[in-house]
Amino acid sequence: MSLSLSADQPAAPADAEDGVWLECIECGETFAPFADVRYTCDECDGLLEVRYDDLPTFEDFAAAADPDQGVWRYADALPLPSGVSIQEGATPLYDVPSLEADLGLEALRIKHEGMNPTGSFKDRGMTVGVAVARELGVDRLACASTGNTSAALAAYGSRGGMETLVLLPAGKVAAGKVAQASLHGARILEVDGNFDACLDIVQELAGQGEAYLLNSLNPFRLEGQKTIGLEILEGFLADYDTVPDRIVLPVGNAGNTSALYKAFRELVQAGALEEDEVPKLVGVQAEGAAPMVEAIENGADEVRRWDDVETRATAIRIGNPVNAPKALPGIRETGGTAISVTDEEITDAQRDLAGEGIGVEPASAASVAGLRKLREEGIVTEDERVACLTTGHLLKDPDAAAAAGREPEPVPAETAGVLDHL
Ligand SMILES: *Cc1c(COP(=O)(O)O)cnc(C)c1O
Ligand SMILES: [Zn+2]
Repeated sequence: MSLSLSADQPAAPADAEDGVWLECIECGETFAPFADVRYTCDECDGLLEVRYDDLPTFEDFAAAADPDQGVWRYADALPLPSGVSIQEGATPLYDVPSLEADLGLEALRIKHEGMNPTGSFKDRGMTVGVAVARELGVDRLACASTGNTSAALAAYGSRGGMETLVLLPAGKVAAGKVAQASLHGARILEVDGNFDACLDIVQELAGQGEAYLLNSLNPFRLEGQKTIGLEILEGFLADYDTVPDRIVLPVGNAGNTSALYKAFRELVQAGALEEDEVPKLVGVQAEGAAPMVEAIENGADEVRRWDDVETRATAIRIGNPVNAPKALPGIRETGGTAISVTDEEITDAQRDLAGEGIGVEPASAASVAGLRKLREEGIVTEDERVACLTTGHLLKDPDAAAAAGREPEPVPAETAGVLDHL
């Protein structure tokens, strides 16, 4: 099976360009990477993955001149040598001593993807995806979004000199994200439906050639997002001399879950990582939008689409995770799991992180909420070294932050009155 951890390094087919090609994960059909616009397999409509005939090791990454290059320091693992860049990647891997002690873990680190240029990990995918769009010669880019994809697409699209179109579920996108898409010049189409409806529409528009699709269905975006996993592994190797036992992340469309798993598989194929060292991947969803958790719990090979989804964590308010066929093997083959958390647990975790000085939006805190639950259930043990991914910045959703935080206290405009109040 092409998505197993132990798959061999593939040989380049005739349609490869510079050792890069696209391959269907279902039927194995291969395609030239940049000859035509294509998001899924022509033969069976299966999801596509980018493949390489030469996979890099940690030594190759270390040899890259400038560690501040972020995503593009990993160019050897990417389909192009450079991209449309706003210095994405190289995000902090914070230590959180109080939370680590509270949860009772050997080590806990927070990979804060909110510290990217537009405030979420989506930038890592867009720097690659928009560069591929340029390579393909398209002039209009589009995405459906719960918010952060639209912010990133708007910024990277305008940087790359292309028109951008974003479809958002009306009334369900946090204020900071709409503001970003708007100022970076995207045309914002507010759809009277949820995210999954937006994605259905934008896929049809893309299919008709109206725009180039930059949702995580686009296999090139996931290549950029692999670098999250590479940075986490390098960070743990530097600080603990070993890779993490487990990586816990929020799941919406399961793009990151798929991307991290792909990064690990490629390291194994390159001989840079042993199969038994690969970190367990744990996906966390909100109770009101948990189709991946349902599939993992039922041992199902496919995810059932949830038509009605609801959660305060709007970035993961998704009922039909498009990357499930890539992500389910990732969770299973690494020995990981998936778990759901309530909105209250998410808000508590948001406060826990804030107490360590780390400001995240609700969806991001799901990872820490899920870890706490798994720790309480004894599934995560005290000897483990764990990385939690926090996907977006606090300022993305100022309303949620204000609701989770302290109330302002009105005081008179003179010192005596303020002192009295204190
Ligand atoms: C997009 C997004 C997610 C979901 O990521 P997937 O890769 O689609 O699973 C989670 N959190 C935030 C903040 C996001 O913007
Ligand atoms: Zn196919």
